Amino acid sequence: MESDLNLNDFEYTISDSDGFRGVKDGKEYPITEEEWQRIHPEHRNTECKECVFVQDVQTLLTFMVPREKKEQVGSRPEFVGKFTMLNWTGHSSFYLFRCGGCDTVVVDYPHGYRGNFMYLRCDKCRGETILKSKEIYERDKLFVPVVLRPRKEHWKFAKRTAEALEGLGKIENMGVRTMVVNGNESSETLSKRIRNFFGLKF
Ligand SMILES: [Zn+2]
Ligand SMILES: [Zn+2]
Repeated sequence: MESDLNLNDFEYTISDSDGFRGVKDGKEYPITEEEWQRIHPEHRNTECKECVFVQDVQTLLTFMVPREKKEQVGSRPEFVGKFTMLNWTGHSSFYLFRCGGCDTVVVDYPHGYRGNFMYLRCDKCRGETILKSKEIYERDKLFVPVVLRPRKEHWKFAKRTAEALEGLGKIENMGVRTMVVNGNESSETLSKRIRNFFGLKF
């Protein structure tokens, strides 16, 4: 990173397979893991009242979920609370379920994506449970797959996406590389962010 640039000067930061970068005026600057952690403090050190810190998934399952719940749970995921863990910069809802693959009772949080859906993973057999309940997405303000929304919203969504994609195309035609910063982002949000970033009005 150039010495005259402060960490706070970045408009946003990126973390992917190429490492950590900060972005300022459309230019990317490499940042160290140490610097990354300074900008993204561990969630357990914040004042969040919504979640509880747990060491790991096994501790959660053993001590935070009542025994009756574990005995009665079926393949349908049941919400057990919001938790954060070591090195997490946020929290997530966790779900208890009986794995359809190996019949073990496990807890996990939603991962993305299998097609349009998020999924839970069994840490024993790596089997995946696809999440098809709208409430699960809404609880963590995740992007609700269109097929889970009321029918009348489908057309509206299709129209908005078409417009957003057209916007993205226009930006790319100007020679600007567009990238997905956060995998959860729809092309619509992404396009809006890019347009705001460049102060474009179309
Ligand atoms: Zn929290
Ligand atoms: Zn399993």
